[in-house]
Amino acid sequence: MSTLVTNIGQVVTGRLEEPILDVETVYIEGGRIRELGTTTATAETTINANGLTLTPGLLDSHVHPVFGDYTPRQQTVGWCESYLHGGITSMISNGEPHLPGRPDDIESAKSLATLARKSYSKKRPGGVKVRGGTLILNGDMTEADIEDVYREGVERLKFLMPVEDRDRARDLVTWGHERDMIVLMHCGGTSLPGVKSTNAEMFVDIEPDIAAHVNGGPTPIPDDEVAKLVIETDIVLDLVLAGNQRVAVDVLKMADERNDLHRVQLGTDTPSGTGVTPLGVLLEAAFLTGMTDIAPESVICLASGNTARHHNLDTGRIEKGRPADMILMGAPKGSQAETALETLNAGTYPAIDTVFVDGEVLVHGSRNTAPAKTTTTIEGT
Ligand SMILES: [Zn+2]
Repeated sequence: MSTLVTNIGQVVTGRLEEPILDVETVYIEGGRIRELGTTTATAETTINANGLTLTPGLLDSHVHPVFGDYTPRQQTVGWCESYLHGGITSMISNGEPHLPGRPDDIESAKSLATLARKSYSKKRPGGVKVRGGTLILNGDMTEADIEDVYREGVERLKFLMPVEDRDRARDLVTWGHERDMIVLMHCGGTSLPGVKSTNAEMFVDIEPDIAAHVNGGPTPIPDDEVAKLVIETDIVLDLVLAGNQRVAVDVLKMADERNDLHRVQLGTDTPSGTGVTPLGVLLEAAFLTGMTDIAPESVICLASGNTARHHNLDTGRIEKGRPADMILMGAPKGSQAETALETLNAGTYPAIDTVFVDGEVLVHGSRNTAPAKTTTTIEGT
């Protein structure tokens, strides 16, 4: 199966080093980007982008799935598919604590992470690549426990609440890193009954890879501690919709001043008490672009290539050889802006027209965003 996309207005790469690429065509074959600025003239399917902006499919860095396309937290069916209509082609589980009646003994925690990992690997809800299965750590776990889940394909470990024994906490991080696993730590106040607050000193001491919702989920740590995390560590800074937006702006400005935008990623921290937010990452990107001087194409990198890089995923960038997980987006009808980037710059979220996953068009006309001023035309099979 081959697809040629022509008449692209702008290409946003998802890479901060070179956020915009000056090409008008992309050739896709076998689900991957094969040529950028191609001279190939024919393909089984031709898509005329009519000047729309091509970006990587967005990643939601922070979701709480359980199984399939149902969330018990907000009793919503089809939430992943709805996020696809908000441009989300991949999402990263930050744990599956919303399982009704979740047992918290070690074997059950391991089984839950393993089962979520395997079931989402086998079935993409709504076509979205859900990286399910994040082991919620507790201080009684041993290296053998980490090895068990690693062997079953679990890729991430998370401190949902502080492990009181610091030596054991550091051991858990080391055991994860020895297996190339990513270690996340809840950052902020109590989010659920039984979850304890963390502080910056714990991050400095334990050194996880990612400060999950550094702007709080929903309650952030005090401002001086947030600054300490940004300045004194090189931990990944996860900014979420279901947090404090004033703190998100502060963190982003601090990271930008320090040339540390590569550490920032965007997510929603949903489904949660905040709800199900299909346009959450897009909304966060628009808000942060509107409230800072950071270029819109760079903010898109925070919601795509950065997250992919932090999680060792192949997606999130418009580059030769990568999976063709992509979006064609534009200015919404009625907007004073003419392009998707101008729309973001104004603080409005752009219109999603077409969403591809592995080169396949899964959305043509988002049911969640406003319609774009122009739309793509698709010819062929
Ligand atoms: Zn969360």
